[in-house]
Amino acid sequence: MNHDQSHALFQQALTLMPGGVNSPVRAFKSVGGEPFFAKRAEGAYLIDVDGNRYIDYIGSWGPMIAGHAHPAVIAAVDKVMRDGLSFGVPNALEVTMAQTITRLVPSCEMVRMVNSGTEATLSAIRLARGATGRNRIVKFEGCYHGHGDSFLVKAGSGMLTLGVPNSPGVPKTLADLTLTLTYNDFEGATRLFAELGEDIAGVIVEPIVGNANCILPAEGYLQHLRDLCTQYGSLLIFDEVMTGFRVALGGAQALYGITPDLTTFGKIIGGGMPVGAYGGRRDLLAQIAPSGPIYQAGTLSGNPVAMAAGLATLDLIQAPGFYDGLAKNTQILRDGLESAAKDAGIAFTTTGVCAMFGLYFCEGPINGYADAMRSDSARFNRFFHGMLERGVYFAPSAFEAGFLSAMHGDAEIERTLSAARAVFAEIAAV
Ligand SMILES: *Cc1c(COP(=O)(O)O)cnc(C)c1O
Repeated sequence: MNHDQSHALFQQALTLMPGGVNSPVRAFKSVGGEPFFAKRAEGAYLIDVDGNRYIDYIGSWGPMIAGHAHPAVIAAVDKVMRDGLSFGVPNALEVTMAQTITRLVPSCEMVRMVNSGTEATLSAIRLARGATGRNRIVKFEGCYHGHGDSFLVKAGSGMLTLGVPNSPGVPKTLADLTLTLTYNDFEGATRLFAELGEDIAGVIVEPIVGNANCILPAEGYLQHLRDLCTQYGSLLIFDEVMTGFRVALGGAQALYGITPDLTTFGKIIGGGMPVGAYGGRRDLLAQIAPSGPIYQAGTLSGNPVAMAAGLATLDLIQAPGFYDGLAKNTQILRDGLESAAKDAGIAFTTTGVCAMFGLYFCEGPINGYADAMRSDSARFNRFFHGMLERGVYFAPSAFEAGFLSAMHGDAEIERTLSAARAVFAEIAAV
């Protein structure tokens, strides 16, 4: 594979942008090597500036569940953009979007559109704090909620000690307000609430952790968080920026039958455009400006072109059997990878829910963050590059989830598995 054009662009980019990229994981730092630059994408494929084609298991980190450049999405954008790119006054597509979200995710009785997942989570915790009059929030090790100050915090030493900043620039006094728990640890959550429950504004959680590979909730764990929040008057916030419209039409909350107080969205909801949203109980959303005192605003929020792309995508995913097809294909891929690794004698396992999956270079089971961290990242990196050379693009990090789109069919999966057999054999020979 030739990468001359990508290489030249990356050399320029390095002098112009931090790390040569506009978002860190794109820089391939954890797998080594240089990123490729996309020229276009179609269906299950990314095509780079050197003309190489890759089967894409990232889908722009989640949004492209219908496949890249889906004709229905492109047509919707094309039609709407001809009437103007932004109005700064209400438009009908915002109403349609709100109707669609509240219908598909019934815990969201009202919604507010924003422009990214980060904005959605920041706004949701402001609402949780404003509505409860409390300052502390609880998050979980390994969960990612965007780059807001309150989320760039890790656990201090000892269960109930205060959080410490994960990044320079995050004030210690703010980090103090973020408490970090271990995902799937029932007892830890119970103890924390017993100690500080009356001060906790909200618990924010990825109901399926997709930012530390792909970790499923233990049986009853999300209900346990629901019960604690209810008991102590804290708000349960499901960050479904990744899982929303991905693991089921109604998101993880539909899959597990849990009703959060607030939910955040991003990724699929914009169909590839910069869109986020937060929604939830009517009495809570009613406290957001201008109907209430909690301030949150956005010049481009509800942008018509972005709404058009999102709505066209949300339309496609409501086709009968859409998620069954995705789940079936993802399972075929996971089973095929596991059996190829077994044949090569490589310790390997996968996790997944519907169209979202995790790959681990270690034995299962994967019950939590500590298990996810057992994956041999040197082996993953070899796997990543071996697959990339064979035209298959997985996430450039051992600790990110992968995604299928509706355009990943038998041909793509078979090509992926045949590449994987070759790569596993190479890894076994090292
Ligand atoms: C991607 C992601 C975010 C951040 O969304 P951005 O649009 O990148 O700001 C927040 N939460 C979760 C669970 C995510 O996966």
